[in-house]
Amino acid sequence: MPELPEVETIARGLAKRVTGDIIESVWLGQKKEPLKSPANEIATTLDHSRIVTVRRMGKHIVLDLERDSKVARAVMPASRRSGKSTPAKSVSTSLDNAFHPAPADKSVRATSAQWIVHLGMTGRLQVCDPNDEVARHTHAIAKLASGRELRFVDPRRFGRLSVATSAEFDATGIEPLEIEADRFVELFHGRKTPIKSALLNQKLLRGVGNIYADESLFRAGIRPRRRASSIKREQLRRLSLEVKEVLKEAIALGGSSVSDYVNADGEEGFFQLEHRVYGREGEPCLVCKTPIKRVVIAGRSSHYCPQCQK
Ligand SMILES: [Zn+2]
Repeated sequence: MPELPEVETIARGLAKRVTGDIIESVWLGQKKEPLKSPANEIATTLDHSRIVTVRRMGKHIVLDLERDSKVARAVMPASRRSGKSTPAKSVSTSLDNAFHPAPADKSVRATSAQWIVHLGMTGRLQVCDPNDEVARHTHAIAKLASGRELRFVDPRRFGRLSVATSAEFDATGIEPLEIEADRFVELFHGRKTPIKSALLNQKLLRGVGNIYADESLFRAGIRPRRRASSIKREQLRRLSLEVKEVLKEAIALGGSSVSDYVNADGEEGFFQLEHRVYGREGEPCLVCKTPIKRVVIAGRSSHYCPQCQK
């Protein structure tokens, strides 16, 4: 599952490629799971919107959209401007003719909205040439004015597409790259749960997943099973710095390519080569040579050095 550094890498790659482009039409597949907002709402929101920015919030990719009369005029063919409105959701599974045409009369006021993508386990956003073969498990295709297509592909269908129109999207939790050490201590020191579980709790920090929780705890010298409330404030303060450091290093290396993660350009990340404990069960600790242990906490594998972490 992509975590914060992988999602950040993907969002940056997408930002480079689609910022400023205009979504001309949208095709949505038949599968219900990937659509968190109603299909017609997604289609209406995306149609003829300009992609203003692409950014990460927690593990979400947020595309800020803007619609205004200028955009609508620039991309809307005359035949559609006066035409009757058409149903937003396609009933066809075929890609021909299945693109949602523009709603007839939405071209007056400038409005902003957001398209929110959560990649789940196996979700991918791909910028493709229209002639590229449409991959199996493609759930959405946005045709862009530049002639390319932005496609959402997700074999396991844990990923989610949604739109925010009336209020700005707000992910739960605090950005781990922005949180101040004092706030971090305040957030964690009263918790009775294992520190590992608390780090994974998206209502506290957003975007920290299994890999980066294990790596941060190793660097901070804290065992994953330690109750958060038993950890001294000074150690929590150090942990907050290590979380940031690990995430920044991982972003710099394009994330960790475990399983089949690749970025928006189809390239792998390299932070997996820097993992000190994650996925290293039985291998010698890089600091003290003690074999790395693996335990399961709240259903998730946790890796740690029994010597270096207390
Ligand atoms: Zn060690």
